[in-house]
Formats: sequence, structure tokens, C-alpha cells
Amino acid sequence: MAGKRRRVGIMGGTFDPIHVGHLMTAEAVRNEYHLDKVIFIPAANPPHKQQQQVTPAIHRFMMTVLATCSNPYFEVSSLEMNRPGPSYTIDTIYELVHRFGEDTDFYFITGADAIQEIPTWDRIEELLGLCQFIAATRQGCVPNVDNIKEYFGELGEKRIHRLATPELEISSTDIRDRIRKGYSIKYIVPTAVEQYIYKEGLYK
Ligand code: ATP
Ligand code: MG
Repeated sequence: MAGKRRRVGIMGGTFDPIHVGHLMTAEAVRNEYHLDKVIFIPAANPPHKQQQQVTPAIHRFMMTVLATCSNPYFEVSSLEMNRPGPSYTIDTIYELVHRFGEDTDFYFITGADAIQEIPTWDRIEELLGLCQFIAATRQGCVPNVDNIKEYFGELGEKRIHRLATPELEISSTDIRDRIRKGYSIKYIVPTAVEQYIYKEGLYK
């Protein structure tokens, strides 16, 4: 009898900084899809953020570690940070497939905005062949996710799924803005991340 397949979630992002929206989403998908773990992978050089200033990867990596360390199912990988050039998800997934072997199924976790953008991603149809996509969105986004599924036809129907979540109105952009204006970021990011931001003088 074949052994049980391993189920690994991938949470990709810039995490500039990581916030409770990312954490709640990853935990909700882990729980619902019975994932053995979720690997957070901070992008070194986000292809879609080439034009904008991104905080040095080491800080984003450190904050991601601080935010996830209390969850035994969460891990952080420096895989993209160690690769030169822009980080394409397809290259990352190939590396993970190689590392984990054939008995692992991958679930790429996204929020509402990221799932909308996947038609522009590099070699996206090949990527859909390698992992399932889980879009964690609120009820109002159902038509948007359906449109994306339809766009990819049968492949979309099979490989893209929506998980209903409350989807908090939080973004890293808003957090950076709040810090610049001297507003509180308590409870929007984990305490250790808040302390790290102030200690390192980030986003001022
Ligand atoms: P920025 O404002 O800098 O774009 P962000 O908050 O959107 O940052 P990213 O690092 O760009 O964070 O996003 C990483 C992943 O997390 C994406 O799949 C995105 O859709 C998802 N995400 C971002 N914010 C939330 C949120 N509040 N709830 C659920 N998922 C989210
Ligand atoms: Mg974003």
C-alpha cells in the first residue's frame, strides 16, 4: 500500500513586514487542508516590485522568523534569498519538488490580490501543474476567484481552490505608512515584529 503523501503549504510574499493577515491565512489553510507544515518564503527580489524600494531581505527574513516561531507547523526558508536575480515562484517550486521528492503535494497559499495577478506570473500553467493554489478570500471575492479559474479552464478548475476567510483589512503598505506617520501598529503585527521594527529603525 502506498504511504501517506506529505502535504506542504507554501506562503510566498515580500513580508515587508509580515503581519497577522499573512499568519491567520496560513494557519487557516493549514488547518482546513490538513497540511503537515507551511513554509514561509520571503522573496529576495520580487519580480512585480522591481520599481519600488524593498527592505533588505535579511530584515524581512528575521521578522518572518520572529512572527512564525511560536507555531510548530510554520517554517521559514531562505531559498529565494540565496538565489540571485528576480525570484520566480516556478523556480522555487522546482527546487522544493527536488528537495521533498515525489511523495509530497504542494499547496501555494495566496490572498485575494495575489490570486488575481497569477495570469501574469512566469510559466504559470507549468506552475499550476506542480502545485495547487489556495486563495484565501472573503465571500465577496468568489466571482473574482471564479474568473481566474475560468481563465485557466480545466487546469484552473482542478488546481485553484478558494477558502473562505474573514480576510482582515491589513496590508504591509498600510503598516509602513502607519510607522512613517507615528501611528501604533500594535496587534497588527506580532509583538516581536513590532519590537524588531523599532529596534532596527525600519520604515521611518
Ligand atoms: P504590500 O502592501 O507591500 O503589497 P501585502 O500586505 O500585500 O504587502 P505581500 O507580502 O505582498 O503582503 O503578500 C504576500 C501574500 O499574502 C499574498 O498572497 C497576499 O495576497 C497575501 N496577503 C496580504 N495581505 C493579506 C491579508 N490581510 N489577508 C490575507 N492575505 C493577505
Ligand atoms: Mg501585496
